[in-house]
Amino acid sequence: MAGPDNYYRASLEPTAALPRLKGTHRTGVCIIGGGFTGLSAALHLAIGRARVTLIEAETIGFAASGRNGGQIHTGFRQTQEQLERWLGEVHTRDLWALGEEAKALVRELAATHQIDCSLKSGLVIAAHDPAAARELAEDTEYLRNHYGYDLARMMDAAGISASLGTNVYPAGRYDSGGGHLQPLAFARGLAQAAERAGAQLYEFTRAREIEASHSGVRVICDGAIIDAAQVIVACDAFTGDLLPALAPYIAHVESFITATEPLPDELYARVLPSDAAVADTRHVLDYYRKSEDRRMLFAGRESYFTVPSDIARLVRPRMAHVYPALKDVRIEYAWRGAVGITRTRMPHFGRLGERVLFAHGYSGQGVALANLGGKVLAEAAMGKPERFDILARVPAKRFPGGAALRKPLVSAGLLWFKLLDHF
Ligand SMILES: Cc1cc2nc3c(=O)[nH]c(=O)nc-3n(C[C@H](O)[C@H](O)[C@H](O)COP(=O)(O)OP(=O)(O)OC[C@H]3O[C@@H](n4cnc5c(N)ncnc54)[C@H](O)[C@@H]3O)c2cc1C
Repeated sequence: MAGPDNYYRASLEPTAALPRLKGTHRTGVCIIGGGFTGLSAALHLAIGRARVTLIEAETIGFAASGRNGGQIHTGFRQTQEQLERWLGEVHTRDLWALGEEAKALVRELAATHQIDCSLKSGLVIAAHDPAAARELAEDTEYLRNHYGYDLARMMDAAGISASLGTNVYPAGRYDSGGGHLQPLAFARGLAQAAERAGAQLYEFTRAREIEASHSGVRVICDGAIIDAAQVIVACDAFTGDLLPALAPYIAHVESFITATEPLPDELYARVLPSDAAVADTRHVLDYYRKSEDRRMLFAGRESYFTVPSDIARLVRPRMAHVYPALKDVRIEYAWRGAVGITRTRMPHFGRLGERVLFAHGYSGQGVALANLGGKVLAEAAMGKPERFDILARVPAKRFPGGAALRKPLVSAGLLWFKLLDHF
């Protein structure tokens, strides 16, 4: 992964590295993974006075949590109507409440722990064609009538053009409950808050194996052993490498993001005047927003197998399609990240035995949901599993085939969705 090309990392002051764990260590809860899920779990456990140790294979926010689009979405990848048909109304309403709490939690954490992460309100879902516009309008109506959600409103072609400064969409939805933030700044802020609350955090400490031990669970790392009463696995796209039993449930796609040079005043005002985050309705979507220092952060295209040598070249045509005025601006940063996805596009929460908890596969909606995920994992580890169980009761489905087949199938699925986007 291209560390130095990640704009988020480049735009923050370097932080002192956390120590690498060495030798034998005993703790209450060992968390594996220093992204939003693991950091939020560590913070909430430490606030609850649990003894907690978090290990991260690389650096805090190294993977998805420090590279994503920073967009805070409402709900889940499946609509409430789809979820009701699948899971029934009671379960779906409980999930909705957790989804709403996830967005509030991000704002609350940023405020309480004074995390300077350029947090803003406003998310636009842009319909890419009239059929998508109808579906979006129906969903917006459904949320208002059945869930009392009145923070989202539809915009017609003129409305979305005024909001986004482009004419490519027939309609869209403005959601003031959604928003955006600088994700790596948020991850680092969570890490500092967790440390202040008493959690012990280590970087460059990769878990190699998890095994049962006489006192609980043993996590074996390169050069260190951790004996814990419980373990939380928060590795998202990489869970299957550590826990092969979970590999059939989690896959990933590579997503590509670029950051332009800071835009001159006239362009900055003309492009995306509402300053919302934007995601379109295509299966392989464009998503974008402006940064605090006046850049356009534009993401588009996905791939399973091949990583392009020139990400900017891949993404630029998408950006130029939406904003022809940006076609010649300099792209200063280009990077990629692995988006953990499940077959159902719902996050996968669960237990392996009595002492290992896990959560992964937020399927592109983890900025809010992974933070909530960490909180409910912490609750479950502290003996209050009720809210964790609401998420764990969502049935997980295996991707068909073994490891060898899974990749081609996800790849073929992606190709199929790309084709659909053109019709
Ligand atoms: C390019 C991109 C764009 C995205 N855009 C958005 C968006 O706009 N909105 C949204 O809601 N979601 C988005 N997502 C998804 C969102 O970023 C993720 O759902 C979320 O960050 C997952 O957090 P996590 O903590 O579960 O996983 P991660 O952030 O991936 O953290 C897992 C951590 O575990 C560590 N790890 C792995 N294996 C081991 C091991 N064996 N030992 C120790 N540590 C280990 C990794 O190094 C990593 O730091 C995007 C994702 C990507 C990649």
